Amino acid sequence: MSLLGEAAVVQDPNTSVAHSGDWSEAIKVSPSIVLFPRTPQQVADALAICSRHSKKVVVQGGLTGLAGGATPKTGEVALSLAKLNVIEDIDLVGGTAIVQAGVILETLQQKVEEQGWCFPLDLGARGSCQIGGNAAVNAGGNRVIRYGVMRQLTLGIEVALPDGRLIDMMNRVTKNTTGIDLKHLFIGSEGTLGVITRIVVQLFPKPSVACTALCALPSFDAATDLIRECRSSLPSLSAFEVMWHDFVSAAREIAHLRPPFEVGAPVYVLMETLGTDEASERAQLERVLGTAIERGMVSDAIVAQSLDESERLWIYRETVGELLSALKPHAAFDVGIPMASMEKFVERVRYELTRDFPARKHLFFGHIGDGNLHVLSGPYKDEAALHHVEELVYNAVRDFGGAISAEHGIGVVKRDFLNNSRSDQEVSLMADLKRLFDPAEILNAGRVI
Ligand code: FAD
Repeated sequence: MSLLGEAAVVQDPNTSVAHSGDWSEAIKVSPSIVLFPRTPQQVADALAICSRHSKKVVVQGGLTGLAGGATPKTGEVALSLAKLNVIEDIDLVGGTAIVQAGVILETLQQKVEEQGWCFPLDLGARGSCQIGGNAAVNAGGNRVIRYGVMRQLTLGIEVALPDGRLIDMMNRVTKNTTGIDLKHLFIGSEGTLGVITRIVVQLFPKPSVACTALCALPSFDAATDLIRECRSSLPSLSAFEVMWHDFVSAAREIAHLRPPFEVGAPVYVLMETLGTDEASERAQLERVLGTAIERGMVSDAIVAQSLDESERLWIYRETVGELLSALKPHAAFDVGIPMASMEKFVERVRYELTRDFPARKHLFFGHIGDGNLHVLSGPYKDEAALHHVEELVYNAVRDFGGAISAEHGIGVVKRDFLNNSRSDQEVSLMADLKRLFDPAEILNAGRVI
């Protein structure tokens, strides 16, 4: 490992513990060695050495993943991207940035905002997750409805392959039809095919105002009517988060928040628009909500009048990190369900969870504008109960034709259920690709497939 330099190969117990797992319930294992390469070439060199010695490697970004993909298995070397953390270039004309994989999402957001641009990917773990980790799992988050998922925000990538080749695919143009777009094999494949070392991301002009509203709704049906209305009348809509009453109650309890409305509601929607003119943005939002109230889609609404008030409204949704910790050991789901079936899916899963585990908390919320539902259920002290909950939810996903993961990935936590969403032929094609890129199976082995 002299190629990497001594500082890049760490064997101390504190570092090992800090790298023993992500946010999921996968069993933590302290790696005996943690590698901290400082350049893309060092990542490639480290992989070449590990390949030569048949040493298995787990790739680690910010360790905020919820699928156990970055959690080491016994005997694996951890390869952390934390020191590969330079924003190399911000192109103020073309609206792109070249970013090393270990850059923290929030750092990138802030740096481009200082230059009048916006990197719109946004999620609760923004202060710790890395842009490479975001690409590896094809992260989504709060603003997908307007800007798309990480796949759509990525123009180019550079990857280090298990055999030590460093492949430059750092395309900077939006339109490029020069053959197979190989970057898509690596985005969302959770580090099973290669290690992402650098990324070209797409930026957007920085919106100068955000308008936020929290709405109480009489039913989930009303939420589907409201999103249809917002999509046609609010072109600057950037977030449409649905929270069922159980989630809002738990959020209030954990963060000591007041009830948002005098009268409680079965469903709440937190929505945000991003624009340039505050007065017209707010007027437009108030007009749409006024109509929604007249038509019975919304029973009450608060439109934030200041940034402070907007942050106070977002708190309900952002308590998810605290709730994840409080309900440990939990089952956390991020399923994709066709909008038309969402209500029936929630009804079935809520009924079955409450029937089998009446004393546990079952919270429903999500980025419903994208058909992405989160279910957080727990705590479960024993493995058998956890497995039963997973079966119950993933069987419902299969029956409704959905996806068992809409943004967190498969990792190890959902691996045994992959067939609920993907056919045997698809899984076998994935295995063929894995063999092509990583014949010795040294990289993130046993994850996804
Ligand atoms: P890690 O957890 O370190 O790794 C995730 C996977 O990617 C692992 O398989 C790992 O091996 C692989 N990997 C990491 N870096 C690389 C690399 N450079 N090259 C190849 N493979 C790599 N996710 C969402 O999509 N939307 C949300 O709204 C959202 N909200 C969250 C809220 C909270 C409070 C928490 C804790 C998590 C949330 N997540 C969300 C999940 C998580 O934050 C994202 O999955 C994030 O994108 C993971 O990034 P990371 O750097 O922490 O990756």
